[in-house]
Amino acid sequence: MHFKRLLVGLFLLSVLAPDVLAEITQTLSAEHEKLEEQLKNNPQLILDHFQNLDKPPNKKVDQIEKEYLLCQAQLALTYPNLALKHAEAGLALIKSHKHQWLRNKILLCKATSLEFESRHKEALPLTHEVVIWAENHLDNWLLIDGLIARGHIYNAMTLSADALKDFQRAYDLAPESGGKINKGEIAADIALVYEYKNDSNTAIQYYQEAIDYLADGHDDQLTLSIVLYGLGRSQVHNNDLDLGFKNLQESARLAKEINDIQGEAYALKELANISSLKGQKKNAINTLNGVMDIFKEANNDPMMMEVAYELCHIYTDLKQYDEAQKQLMIMKSFEDENTLPYLLASNLSLEAKLLNLQGDHQKAYQVLLQAMKIQSTQKEQQISQQISRIQQQYDFATQQKENALLLQQNLLQQQKIKAQQERYQLQTLLVLAFAITSLLLIVIIYRSYKHRQKLQYMANHDSLTGLLNRKAATIHVKSKKLTSKSNLVVMLDLDHFKRINDRFGHTVGDEVLITFAQLCHKVLPENTTISRLGGEEFLVIFYTTKITEAMQAMYQLKEQCAQKIILDDPDFRVTFSAGITQFKKEDTLEQAIQHADMAMYRAKSQGRNRIIVYHEMH
Ligand code: GH3
Ligand code: MG
Ligand code: MG
Repeated sequence: MHFKRLLVGLFLLSVLAPDVLAEITQTLSAEHEKLEEQLKNNPQLILDHFQNLDKPPNKKVDQIEKEYLLCQAQLALTYPNLALKHAEAGLALIKSHKHQWLRNKILLCKATSLEFESRHKEALPLTHEVVIWAENHLDNWLLIDGLIARGHIYNAMTLSADALKDFQRAYDLAPESGGKINKGEIAADIALVYEYKNDSNTAIQYYQEAIDYLADGHDDQLTLSIVLYGLGRSQVHNNDLDLGFKNLQESARLAKEINDIQGEAYALKELANISSLKGQKKNAINTLNGVMDIFKEANNDPMMMEVAYELCHIYTDLKQYDEAQKQLMIMKSFEDENTLPYLLASNLSLEAKLLNLQGDHQKAYQVLLQAMKIQSTQKEQQISQQISRIQQQYDFATQQKENALLLQQNLLQQQKIKAQQERYQLQTLLVLAFAITSLLLIVIIYRSYKHRQKLQYMANHDSLTGLLNRKAATIHVKSKKLTSKSNLVVMLDLDHFKRINDRFGHTVGDEVLITFAQLCHKVLPENTTISRLGGEEFLVIFYTTKITEAMQAMYQLKEQCAQKIILDDPDFRVTFSAGITQFKKEDTLEQAIQHADMAMYRAKSQGRNRIIVYHEMH
């Protein structure tokens, strides 16, 4: 009925597992990881390490890891109360959402510590939390670890179906071989459930699987000693005393070899049971007394209760009722609110047996009734627990379904939003591309328009003075809707221009031409067409019938030339000769130009610097 010894070993198997998964998820610091490896071989070394540190770790994460390792080490040495203190200290250091992986590892250590103290109801929710966290974070190794821890709690609570379910799941997840935990080792957990269910045959098969694995080149004495203990005990239960004796003895030997004092005591207790069964009661009592001292030293209350039970049993058989009564009192002194009902019931049964043998039949009857009541209450509780768990599972499954539906809706919504965003982005992109293309087109069109304008300007204008050229002037005049009956055409030629060039240079000649063009624009009426026909020859057209107006303007131009075009030599004056003629609607422009030209030549021949009117020539 006592499985703590097995729990230590199986716990060790499971706590070491996360080392491998740490590669995928998280790890302890390199130094702490090395220490964690010592859990199985030498947990005392971990305690010594932190004892001998000069100063406590600085970093928060190192402090948390320290508490975690101390929790594990104390648990490995079967000191669950000390382990609990370190678990609490570690958890108190975690205040934010950081260090969640470590938090879960500590939670598991805490759960196992509580389990060692028979505080199953407190331990169970912690393992639920770890299992869910590991599932959500796809942390397989922690999941295996959590399932194994929870399986042991279920088993201790005599919920073997749940225990088997968790162990089976862990078994399926674990690798065939290698790693720090594998199917072979989980076989020992499964064996424990069958042993608990009094199905020794099946238990033996699973223990054998675990031993086959351990014998297969695994130098792990502690685990081997623990599994041999389970195997031996199952064999004894199966009435195979010799085989059981052999394996339990080997278990005790291995435990002693590695200084696992409590481990040796567990095996010795079972060996004492064999002695008792074989009738060697004295021998059994001696062994059990030694075992009792060891558990006393280790404050292992549950085991002390069980040893007292065994002693009470033997003394009862020997009819040494005083001694039996003494052991009964010791046994009962360890009962508390955490003592599992089936243990209470078996204690009461033993008490009833003793009372009966002592002749107190009435009290024996009452005690037996009490035992039966506990057993039936336990059965009822088990059933109601099962019902509530099924209800919880149902609620959980419904919740999961709802969550999945919500998640799906959410996903759909997100996809919709994403598609909308993509559409919007595409639209924006298209609009942008269109805008850029349009802008580019506008720029290109504008530039080509400007270019054409420039070409047109160049084709129609004289490059030096900017005045219209002959061709443009002709078109311009023809395109103008001449409203007046007649207009005036002037041919104009600068006098002795060759001399200006010769005297001052071609550049000065150019400047004279430019200034002259500017003066024309300035002096002549706004709607006058002024063009350079070539060289120093100009054509001017006035859109007026009044010759006096034109003459006045021409004289003004003459005056301005004399005043504004100043050359370095005062002897030089810029003058022009001009011929003017009327241009009637019915006349051709060419004819009018010819007449004006003739008048201009007359002006030249008459000594230049004058304006001759064509129709006054004859
Ligand atoms: P006239 O009084 O008889 O008109 O004498 P002129 O020297 O003005 O006439 P001619 O036809 O003998 O000479 C015209 C000169 O004008 C010859 C040429 O070098 C000059 N000329 C023609 N075009 C330009 C020009 O664009 N720039 C300059 N600087 N000189 C020009
Ligand atoms: Mg000329
Ligand atoms: Mg000239």
